Amino acid sequence: MFSYDFPPYRPPNEASSALIRASRGCPWNKCVFCTMYKTLKFHPRSVEDVKQDIDKAVQMFPRARAVFLADSDSLVMKHIEDILQYIRQRFPHAERITSYARAKTLLKLGPTRLASIKVAGLTRVHVGLESGDAETLAFLQKGATPEEMIAGGKAAKDAGLELSFYLLIGAGGRQRLRQHAVESARVCNAVNPDFIRLRTLIVQHGSLLEAQRNAGRYTPTSPLEKLREVQMFVKHLTVHDCELASDHLTNYLWWNHQVVYHGIAGNLPEQQREMLAVLSSTLETLSDVEDEVLDATLLYDQGYISSL
Ligand code: SF4
Repeated sequence: MFSYDFPPYRPPNEASSALIRASRGCPWNKCVFCTMYKTLKFHPRSVEDVKQDIDKAVQMFPRARAVFLADSDSLVMKHIEDILQYIRQRFPHAERITSYARAKTLLKLGPTRLASIKVAGLTRVHVGLESGDAETLAFLQKGATPEEMIAGGKAAKDAGLELSFYLLIGAGGRQRLRQHAVESARVCNAVNPDFIRLRTLIVQHGSLLEAQRNAGRYTPTSPLEKLREVQMFVKHLTVHDCELASDHLTNYLWWNHQVVYHGIAGNLPEQQREMLAVLSSTLETLSDVEDEVLDATLLYDQGYISSL
């Protein structure tokens, strides 16, 4: 029988990548907003099993240009270089081999090990920054401070890896909106990631965040407050050679049964003004109907979106 351990999650831009599950679950598994691996105890898969899946993936995608390693933090694996070398050997057309990684893991691996992982074939890491605000990170139980995010991000870049930071819009709630926007820009400016990808926070059913919200310790922002937060964040960015993307449906806004905002995207700093202009004009257009604008959070709460 043809069995293959498909990872349950991957970044949207890895949709056409060959997906290889090197480990299952998340070794941290404590972030209050995340429900991805709550019922799964983290464990690395055996190198032999992973290699068998790589062989099967080669049959399915012999000319794959990109390979993504799952689940959430496979770089903690002792033999990750063996797996990467095998991917490199079996996927000769792959221009990109990427993985999720926690900033704290990058920091712990240090320059020598990261250089060895890079030589073995990894080209990019996807890192959940979520926020650069210390209080927000602590509230989210992210397990890293802003300074550790900076150090982990820089460690990846120093090792020659491309870095994709994920920012969680709405993470500070109404209480920390400004600090979340400004401090997140500060962390991005200090690291200068190659990519900044925006995700909007959804309070998922069954998440620890839902309990915090119900207890009044987290107040979600409205759709237009989220736009103002993005505007403040982008205004404070001074990064260069960086691509900003909003490649997720959670960033959309709806009004009158139509998508009226698809998120912003562009190169920084070249398209910073252009992106800010889109935000200003969207805010201006929607301000008269502010109470009727819907975001993914509201649609999720109303049952129109079930999985994200
Ligand atoms: S957000 Fe990432 S690091 Fe946090 S629990 Fe979920 S998978 Fe783990």
